[in-house]
Amino acid sequence: MQANEFVPRPKVEGCRQEWGMKMTDRFRRIYAKIDLDAIRKNVENMKAKLVPGTGMMAVIKADGYGHGAAPIAGELEPLPEIWGFGVATAEEAFALREAGIKKPILVLGYTFPHSYERMIREEVRFTVFRNDTLLQLSQIGGELAGKGVFQKAMVHIKVDTGMSRIGVGADGGGLDFVRKALETDGISVEGIFTHMARADEEDKSSAKKQIALFDDFLGRIEKETGHKIPVRHCANSAGIFELPEAGFDLVRAGIALYGLWPSQEMSRETMHLTPALSFYSTIVYVKEIEAGTPVSYGGTFVAPKRMRVATVPVGYGDGYPRSLSGKGFVLVCGKKAPILGRVCMDQFMIDVTEILEAREGEQVTLIGRDGGEQITMELLGDMSGRFNYEFACDLGKRVPRIYIKEGKVCSISDGCQYF
Ligand SMILES: *Cc1c(COP(=O)(O)O)cnc(C)c1O
Repeated sequence: MQANEFVPRPKVEGCRQEWGMKMTDRFRRIYAKIDLDAIRKNVENMKAKLVPGTGMMAVIKADGYGHGAAPIAGELEPLPEIWGFGVATAEEAFALREAGIKKPILVLGYTFPHSYERMIREEVRFTVFRNDTLLQLSQIGGELAGKGVFQKAMVHIKVDTGMSRIGVGADGGGLDFVRKALETDGISVEGIFTHMARADEEDKSSAKKQIALFDDFLGRIEKETGHKIPVRHCANSAGIFELPEAGFDLVRAGIALYGLWPSQEMSRETMHLTPALSFYSTIVYVKEIEAGTPVSYGGTFVAPKRMRVATVPVGYGDGYPRSLSGKGFVLVCGKKAPILGRVCMDQFMIDVTEILEAREGEQVTLIGRDGGEQITMELLGDMSGRFNYEFACDLGKRVPRIYIKEGKVCSISDGCQYF
């Protein structure tokens, strides 16, 4: 039986391939579009919230929350308000240096000693909170000096004010650590920071307590060491929106760069954000099934009537969550098409019974707008029971990224390579 025989194929105006670029077949299966203009606009909107003179660190760990760290850093580096970049690992920092990024890069977590020499040479900033790190950095500094390289390890001291993750206490022990860092040869204390655990909640009392603790500790450092550490920072995205007193010298903007909200509890009135990422595929097969026909693994969905079913060649191998099985929907020709049965590793099925214009080759929007409908990452997070941050980070290596600047394609990454 030829599937296409009974698929109605009315010609409908308005069904379209998106945005002018002639897409090669290479990107028909799947691609993510990342709008660098949206990211710049989000930076501008956040900047408007800051006390003038406050810098911004763009947090682009986990490959820019799945959006691609290098092209985003390249886009943001020239902006005067961008102090530099925050990443999670030394490898992420090196990749940015390899991509030609010159501004400061801070590794926000602990780094292991095998990276120290290269970090010092490439001026990647360390987050420090352990005594042994100070000692190791000083030793490596000595060794480098022996080789004629007189570079200091630039460090930011991490203070724990309520997250209980990493950091020295905002107390006498913490002060001893700061003193030691200031006195150790080969180390230059550029910054000091803390991180808020609950800035994204409606009730800001816990966040405010952390800010006050940090502020007091900074005062104590100045008083007792006579030294003012130049780059003091505290705020994450949620802090930027709703806690102006957390600005200090620098804020650390992560999730909001990408136009995503830190949590459901945050008021949508405080900030205008434009989501940067949209995510597309193409229908590769359309067929009709009879009532009683099961769909996908486990037969969890059984057609209650004769239905038109389309197959989308995307699955959890691309980072599209399996937990959307039987719950999520995508957009086809500006309409919602529900997911039928389980999402497989590389494919899933959708109901297009009511979308007669949907046919093979038609665009499928997994995240983004199509006509009057929109699927946001927050909505996908809700439907799949996952956190929106997690969804962005998990977008797979198999997904090519297409970068848009001033409305035009400016670069493309196939997951491993930019070209
Ligand atoms: C990830 C991270 C941020 C960014 O947080 P968002 O909520 O994404 O803005 C800021 N600071 C530190 C230490 C982080 O680890």
